[in-house]
Amino acid sequence: MEGYITDIQRFSLNDGDGIRTTVFFKGCNMHCTWCHNPETIEFKNNVLLYQNNCIGCGRCFKVCAQGAHITENGVHKIDYSKCVSCGECVDKCYAEALKFSAKKMTSDEVLAQIVQDIPYYEQSDGGVTLSGGEVFCQTEFADEIISKCRLRKIKTAVETNLCHDFDKIEKTLAKLDLIMFDIKLFDGETHKKYTDADNKIIFENAKKADKLGIPIIVRTPLIPDVTDGAENLKNIAEFVKTLKNARYYELLNFNPLGGSKYKAMDKNNDFASAKPFSQNRLDEIKNALSGYNVKIG
Ligand code: SF4
Ligand code: SF4
Repeated sequence: MEGYITDIQRFSLNDGDGIRTTVFFKGCNMHCTWCHNPETIEFKNNVLLYQNNCIGCGRCFKVCAQGAHITENGVHKIDYSKCVSCGECVDKCYAEALKFSAKKMTSDEVLAQIVQDIPYYEQSDGGVTLSGGEVFCQTEFADEIISKCRLRKIKTAVETNLCHDFDKIEKTLAKLDLIMFDIKLFDGETHKKYTDADNKIIFENAKKADKLGIPIIVRTPLIPDVTDGAENLKNIAEFVKTLKNARYYELLNFNPLGGSKYKAMDKNNDFASAKPFSQNRLDEIKNALSGYNVKIG
């Protein structure tokens, strides 16, 4: 079957054990205000405009039957309310300033990339990680890729938000070697405010996932003045302690790399001026969580 993939990164070292190939799925059911992969959120395969590459040839204006390429205050923009993602302009932009945010691929095409690194997975105890966006917004496609990996004895992991009807994802979760999921905020109201999602379902699903007996890594992205509060992190660390199969609780430093993508999508970036945490601050956070099994990545 076919699905939408935004990127496939080989030789990844931060998405599970050993050397991995990370497959990024398109579409997400949560809307975290700090998302560093904003091009993966929408289910629509939108066109990104990289202004730095644009040579102003005007071809896209001529070929777009929808009139979606516009100039506003002297700046070239895409009117997404008109764009139907036909790809005409992407094909005609020889400067590669226009790119689709995702690619339609079959599971065999994804596999063809994954199998290239089998020797590295074997040497490093690595494998494949399905990430996103949100993997379980394309559950059947993910399941097919995972099953094909298992047939080739390639280890599989997911990075998920676990914010789904558990009955619909359990069968796929049960096939994995590692389940990584985020708990971003402990307080329900704050979680809703920053992610547009209820965290009750995530806590419930975490307990259900734990019963599958598969190793788990719980993660919190450190977002300045949002998730980095001592009480938030302690409460989550306390919850992680209750999960029998949790290998550790991982804190991820703030990732500022989504900036160029926000610009290419003409979207506001609420965290444009936020910076990764200094080593001193990371040490402080880790010290405050001494007594818990915490890793900072
Ligand atoms: S076709 Fe590409 S290079 Fe030419 S104006 Fe459009 S975006 Fe710019
Ligand atoms: S993808 Fe199609 S509709 Fe969208 S801007 Fe390009 S040519 Fe126009």
